[in-house]
Amino acid sequence: MVRESIDRIGVVGAGTMGSGIAQVAATNGYEVVMRDIEEEFVQSGFESIEDSLDRLAGKDALEDDPETIRERIEGTTDLEALADCDAVVEAAVENVDVKKEIFADLEEFVAEDVLLATNTSTLSITSIAAATGTPERVVGLHFMNPVPIMEGVEIVVGEKTDAETVGLAHDLAEDLEKTTWEADDKPGFVTNRILMPWLNEGIRAYDEGVATKEDIDAGMELGTNVPMGPLTLADHIGLDVCLHASETLYEELGDRYKPAYLLKRKVEAGELGKKTGKGFYEYD
Ligand code: NAD
Repeated sequence: MVRESIDRIGVVGAGTMGSGIAQVAATNGYEVVMRDIEEEFVQSGFESIEDSLDRLAGKDALEDDPETIRERIEGTTDLEALADCDAVVEAAVENVDVKKEIFADLEEFVAEDVLLATNTSTLSITSIAAATGTPERVVGLHFMNPVPIMEGVEIVVGEKTDAETVGLAHDLAEDLEKTTWEADDKPGFVTNRILMPWLNEGIRAYDEGVATKEDIDAGMELGTNVPMGPLTLADHIGLDVCLHASETLYEELGDRYKPAYLLKRKVEAGELGKKTGKGFYEYD
């Protein structure tokens, strides 16, 4: 049985996704407690939130002023500060052991009827839920990057997630002004299962000289009506993130998910895409 009345949301991780989730929850009137392991990571999460809120305010896209929204978020390095939350969304690093430890620890502090969600892109919800004694309240709430801009949230149903938890996950995401769809707990769910081979094939096509990178992107944008071609999108996501997700899928699903050689080489060279100023393209 999960509690339906949610006022206070805990967010574990203040990185790209955690800070975005905290921002969107606060924008929609929730009180938020955002936790990371070091104070500097919490502060850097707040900096991203403040920048993003200022940009959105400049476009008249916020009902409340940025300071009011920002004040709804409390930062902490103490997991116990999430004790009185009505729902928790975990967005820490994509490492199953770290996530399992977080869920096992959370169970000691939060009430038994609190929804526990993970934002994992590729890991098994069932295995993370197994770290708790209450897997029926654990669900995947897979936000897309950047969270304040992207409309979709994928709800991922673990082997033991119960129907009430799934229903509450949809309601919560919709209350954050998102649109949801549902996926079973199979590797990559819907999005990354289909996206990662598409990105890798774009990278292979470039590596094998099918076309220039600009023409590969233009071909996919103009020819299939996607907003970004594979090389541009991989740079935006981060080539390290793409490689990590591809490797997880390769382990689980075999050869058709094998990461492209050039993707590995780029990551080894530290060219991770937009965030390092260079990936397939160069950025200021
Ligand atoms: P990130 O590296 O930007 O942030 C992760 C944060 O987690 C870091 O600040 C780190 O200090 C913190 N952390 C590590 N261990 C922790 C712990 N025990 N408790 C609290 N915080 C801890 O990563 P991200 O891109 O925000 O990804 C977070 C999650 O969201 C991952 O599971 C990732 O797969 C998923 N995701 C990422 C994207 C994306 O495009 N970046 C999209 C969808 C889902």
